[in-house]
Amino acid sequence: MECGFATKCIYGDGEGFDKDGTGAISFPIYQTATYAHPQVGESTGYDYSRLQNPTRQQVEQVVASLEGGIDALAFSSGMAAITAVMELFQPGDHLITDADLYGGSIRLFRHVSQKNGITFSHIDCAKENLEAYVKENTRAIYIETPTNPMMHVTDIHKVSQIAKKHGLLLIVDNTFMSPYFQKPFTLGADIVIHSGTKFLGGHNDTLAGFAVTNRADIAEKLRFLIKTVGSGLAPFDSWLILRGIKTLPIRMEKAQENARAIVEYLLQEPRILNVYYPGIAATKDYEICRAQASGFGSMLTFEVESKALALHILKSTKLIPFAESLGGTETLLTYPTTQTHADVPEEVRIQNGITDKVLRISAGIEDKKDLIADLKQAIESFEA
Ligand SMILES: *Cc1c(COP(=O)(O)O)cnc(C)c1O
Repeated sequence: MECGFATKCIYGDGEGFDKDGTGAISFPIYQTATYAHPQVGESTGYDYSRLQNPTRQQVEQVVASLEGGIDALAFSSGMAAITAVMELFQPGDHLITDADLYGGSIRLFRHVSQKNGITFSHIDCAKENLEAYVKENTRAIYIETPTNPMMHVTDIHKVSQIAKKHGLLLIVDNTFMSPYFQKPFTLGADIVIHSGTKFLGGHNDTLAGFAVTNRADIAEKLRFLIKTVGSGLAPFDSWLILRGIKTLPIRMEKAQENARAIVEYLLQEPRILNVYYPGIAATKDYEICRAQASGFGSMLTFEVESKALALHILKSTKLIPFAESLGGTETLLTYPTTQTHADVPEEVRIQNGITDKVLRISAGIEDKKDLIADLKQAIESFEA
């Protein structure tokens, strides 16, 4: 039976529980490194937990079913997933990536992948003519939409047509929207990446990452890589992500509602110069986002009138913690300049608009009036 999204969050594509015959409703944590074989040449299907573990397999099946992929691989972090995906490429290969990406991805590309002989064009995929950057040795396009932290929206389908025309892989980091709001495979992506640490896990309590694909050849290569490089997700962490995903739809809705309320408050606050959120009507980003996603998410970035005000807000909120990360039950305030994007070269950071006046909020699921009251007292208590 083809179930709806919320049902899949709980049961995956069917066998949500009872694998071990106890009827346990919560999927068991198979805390084992290895498995006994009946005899030579026979296996229970599990040999060693670096290759596969039932709890990890369960969370992989759930995530594959939510994204509509044929396979999902669970890694120990989002960066471990992206690192494994980069192993699909060879020295001499060229990739086109968005200039505005999660800082850790930029660091990986510039300091690890480049050393391994892979070259990049870092461009504004939302605005520039991407096709002009396709070279003989280009193998893939790697995007985030909306981007972290400037919230640029890229038309996934349009990029996928360029990718298909030139035989390139389209890799989409779907962390900010989660499959609840955006399903890149339906728009032409070949690989979808998640930091499972964020919305999928949803509770700021564990790290995880996913690489999902709708292509059998890529799935096979990634399966080889996960067992070879050994960065698969541990059984207990797999269980935490399974538990987090069960409430994904209601968390996404509530966090989006809170984000909208914060955006509305910030837009009428005179000390705020700019608010970046794709759900603000009448912008190009809004139109693209509305067409390709079923919501606008709960991430927002804003620019305040001075660095001093930014620093004041970060030390003055009483409820909202000043912390990196996103997508959890707790609303978090982040300062990209010194946190998530600290390792991005300054000129790149400034070019992307990430100045020392820019703050990012990941809306959680608290009472929105408390969040607004907290931000308001932090902003209004500033004396220039
Ligand atoms: C956090 C994040 C990552 C990295 O994931 P980790 O789980 O922290 O390793 C990658 N992409 C995006 C968009 C992120 O927000």
